[in-house]
Amino acid sequence: MESPLTPGLVEELKKISQLNIEEQKKVLPAFLKKLTPEQIEYIKKQQGQEQGGCLFCSMINGDIPIKKIYEDDGLLAFLDIRPANLGHALLIPKEHIQFSTQLDNTKIFDIANKIAKSIYENLKKDTNIFVANGVNAGQRLDHLAVHIIPRDKDDGVSIGWQGKEVKEEELNRLVSLLSIKAEKKEKPKVEEHAEEIYYDDMRIP
Ligand SMILES: [Zn+2]
Repeated sequence: MESPLTPGLVEELKKISQLNIEEQKKVLPAFLKKLTPEQIEYIKKQQGQEQGGCLFCSMINGDIPIKKIYEDDGLLAFLDIRPANLGHALLIPKEHIQFSTQLDNTKIFDIANKIAKSIYENLKKDTNIFVANGVNAGQRLDHLAVHIIPRDKDDGVSIGWQGKEVKEEELNRLVSLLSIKAEKKEKPKVEEHAEEIYYDDMRIP
């Protein structure tokens, strides 16, 4: 890829990279404002390569061949070449983000569901849909991936746990800590009609 940076910008970038992090934080916003989106993308990519790169980003860029089963503007799915079971698919966002909580929409889960459906219909297998958010959850790369894993009885794949003992007060504490309010939806008009029809039917002797 040819550099979209002018010699002047390269010089400025070099000077900034020699500053310590605190000083960099002060001057970077003004510097980034001068750049086009392509130039910012180019710098990000270069930094990625310096840090050893990202395997999934290399797959998205076409630098590493994959066995693709789905692609759209924001998502890519391919077969794992070291599968838990045959048909094990990986679905990743094209944007380099680490956690599913950083997604700005949840289309990835719709597509994961479609892949699970395809596995069920074409391979006649049950599935696990699995996301590891963070190292403690078993995440190996810092690029989000949804695993869709076909399952067989006694296939030796373990995604399991022993249920722990927990006191009721602790459960109650967690309920108040973790409860999420449902978004209010306006009742669709069709439903109102459906209710009317229902009540009318009830009146028919
Ligand atoms: Zn990546």
